[in-house]
Amino acid sequence: MLYQNRCGYAFLGVHVEKRIGGTSGMKKVVKFGGSSLASAEQFRKVSEIIHADKDRRYVVPSAPGKRGSKDTKVTDMLYDCYSAAGDAEALTKKIAAIQARYQEIIDGLGLELSLEEQFKEIRERFEQHAGSDYAASRGEYLNGIVLAAYLEYDFIDAAEVICFDEDGVFDAEKTDEKMRARLGETERAVIPGFYGAMPDGSIKTFSRGGSDITGSIVARAVHADLYENWTDVSGFLVTDPHIVQNPETIETITYRELRELSYMGATVLHADAIFPLRKEGIPINIKNTNRPQDPGTLIVESTCRQPRFTITGIAGKKGFCAINIEKDQMNSEIGFGRKVLQVFEENGISFEHVPSGIDTFTVIVHQSEFMEKEQNVISGIHRAVQPDTLDLESGLALIAVVGRGMRANRGTAGRIFAALSHARINVKMIDQGSSELNIIIGVRNEDFENAVRAIYDIFVQTQL
Ligand code: ADP
Ligand code: ASP
Ligand code: MG
Repeated sequence: MLYQNRCGYAFLGVHVEKRIGGTSGMKKVVKFGGSSLASAEQFRKVSEIIHADKDRRYVVPSAPGKRGSKDTKVTDMLYDCYSAAGDAEALTKKIAAIQARYQEIIDGLGLELSLEEQFKEIRERFEQHAGSDYAASRGEYLNGIVLAAYLEYDFIDAAEVICFDEDGVFDAEKTDEKMRARLGETERAVIPGFYGAMPDGSIKTFSRGGSDITGSIVARAVHADLYENWTDVSGFLVTDPHIVQNPETIETITYRELRELSYMGATVLHADAIFPLRKEGIPINIKNTNRPQDPGTLIVESTCRQPRFTITGIAGKKGFCAINIEKDQMNSEIGFGRKVLQVFEENGISFEHVPSGIDTFTVIVHQSEFMEKEQNVISGIHRAVQPDTLDLESGLALIAVVGRGMRANRGTAGRIFAALSHARINVKMIDQGSSELNIIIGVRNEDFENAVRAIYDIFVQTQL
């Protein structure tokens, strides 16, 4: 019985509790990504979705995204435009192109809305060099104004309710307080994603894809029953659809699995979007704006639902570099690992993995972060631990094979290696997290896509 209850908690329990408590119905926070709001036609679909369920009360929009594969996202146009801030002629042209994107949406929706004032201010602030964060944030800000007008919802500027401290670090508690107080005053509102403000009022953004985080913050603040994240795919897929054609959809995934996958490149949801929700156990439903009838993927704190396959998902990234250090009897040298890692710390480089053997120690880092400091790091390691040999291996890709079901299934690693060896792919590194939730595999950049396909095939296609 207890087991049953715990199973139901993550998704159903929250609803039951709220209804019994007699509150005024459910609250859903809905976030729409860039491609969901790229044109007037997409805005109409969004409006239909919102009006189809009165519980969809708080809406977080991204900036208009691509309307086709060759199009440019408004956020990228804004970064580019800001880089021309010192050139009046280029600025005029680039601002006009951005304004045209919004005007096309406004006209397509038949709205009586003018963004003249806003664009005048944006130009002035660009000329005063207000910062690239300010520039990028205008994409969501303006889209929020248009969407609020179209839905006839209140518009709340995220700069009023999303707080960063003076060092630019997101202040979760202050934000939660302000957001809750402000949203308490309104039944239905649009809050643009991606940005907030520092104590001096200057605009600060999250990292790219950060509107997902804003959605989570709003969901936490209003104690939402559900956070719906609307995008252009019918859920979190087992792997990247650019690598495998029509991959299977994941029905249910846990926060921890999702974090592993999104950190390793499954960009459908920002890796940090789960933090505000974890505190409340609020489920996320990834949905497709173009196919609202599809159930999508449910992301929960924990679940008894077994994944359909041994693994839940596969994600990966290229562009890593391994620093391989060998020294006889390093295992008995206390503090060896600390001394090596300290060199990376002193050079401001974060490490991804540290697989090690008895006399070998490898540090895996992002190649782009490492490159300009490589000689400092090499000499630093020589001074710190006097290795017998030190060599670098660049051009590596890391693949994360993630799944809560792996712990209960023996031989997962064996199957991965069999698949890779069958595809004639040389495995450069393996690292298994202590949680047994993931296995990380290093391969050469050029083997990356084939390796992902081979792993997908063995677990999903053949299901051996
Ligand atoms: P949005 O603009 O709605 O935030 P994103 O572009 O950030 O959308 O994320 C959705 C995209 O993520 C999909 O169109 C897809 O190409 C890509 N993607 C990469 N890996 C995955 C995955 N495992 N599952 C689903 N989508 C993925
Ligand atoms: N518009 C921002 C970006 O392109 C944020 C987002 O879409 O989530 O990264
Ligand atoms: Mg996104």
